[in-house]
Amino acid sequence: MKHVFCIGELLIDFVAEKQGSDLSKADLFTKKAGGAPANVACAIAKLGGNSKFIGCVGKDPFGTYLLNVLKDNHVDISFAQRAKTFTTLAFVSLSEEGERDFVFSRGADKELKYDSSLKKSIKDNLLHLGAATALLGGDLEKAYGRYFFDALTQGAFISFDPNFRGDLWKEEEHIFIKKCQPFIEKADLGKFSLEEAQLLTGKNDLNECCDVLHEIGTKIITITLGNKGTLLSTPEIKKTIPSVSVTPVDTTGAGDAFIGCLLQQIAALKEAEEVFGNIDMLAEMVKNANKAGAITTTNYGAIPSLPTKSQLLAIE
Ligand code: ATP
Repeated sequence: MKHVFCIGELLIDFVAEKQGSDLSKADLFTKKAGGAPANVACAIAKLGGNSKFIGCVGKDPFGTYLLNVLKDNHVDISFAQRAKTFTTLAFVSLSEEGERDFVFSRGADKELKYDSSLKKSIKDNLLHLGAATALLGGDLEKAYGRYFFDALTQGAFISFDPNFRGDLWKEEEHIFIKKCQPFIEKADLGKFSLEEAQLLTGKNDLNECCDVLHEIGTKIITITLGNKGTLLSTPEIKKTIPSVSVTPVDTTGAGDAFIGCLLQQIAALKEAEEVFGNIDMLAEMVKNANKAGAITTTNYGAIPSLPTKSQLLAIE
């Protein structure tokens, strides 16, 4: 089984206890571990895969808590770092429908330094790049680019999720779009929400979005569509794979569960490249990943709601 290296942010989500309240009114918050790439690492490990997290937290009790959550979920944290800067915090409220609204105080995630020892370990493994905070600057952005380069030169399978957060880019969306280009160009697998696919391609139509992303270079595209499932696209074929029916309470982490489950299945292949051109196998993998996403919406919080292998198998 191959290893999946997940790079990006690990942070504290303080989630408003009263669902439906806006952040200006919320007065009680619960502490949760968050950060899309960290969620993906947990999703892989909970399904029995090997995942390693590359990111930075503070040398403070919140940083200790976050690394313990990853360890408890069997994620390898030997490439995680700690900085003097305080751990990154987000304050989150959930709408009645389970959608997130948040404000963000950036801290230690941006302090990640490049570690050249990783180059050898990444050879022939998988690298998942989550871009929510990584393209916002800091040492993290530099390290992110270098790890990406190492992964390319070492023949690793590259997975990219832009994790676009409008609140973090405001009037500077064009910079985000530009910074995503090299990753879209080289990605073996890209995971996009509908909004991200439209933003990054300037197209409205889903099929046209896929055509543009393929033209730039992404080999396998998944566009996640909430309860409608996922559009799977390769240069040869486009196919919508329906999801299962659930009653969602909190959609946080559904996309991370989805891509984590997909990567865990690809990492279990003898060669990750076996997925290229094998649309039936890919469609089956996406079907499982849809289930993982769906299950995650049925409970509160991302990491505790990610399914185990037996929970996934129990769903028809
Ligand atoms: P995130 O908010 O975590 O970034 P996302 O927008 O990337 O999520 P979603 O489309 O919300 O991703 O969810 C990922 C996948 O999970 C979907 O493609 C779908 O298969 C499944 N899923 C999500 N919500 C539901 C739902 N309400 N019912 C059934 N399946 C769902």
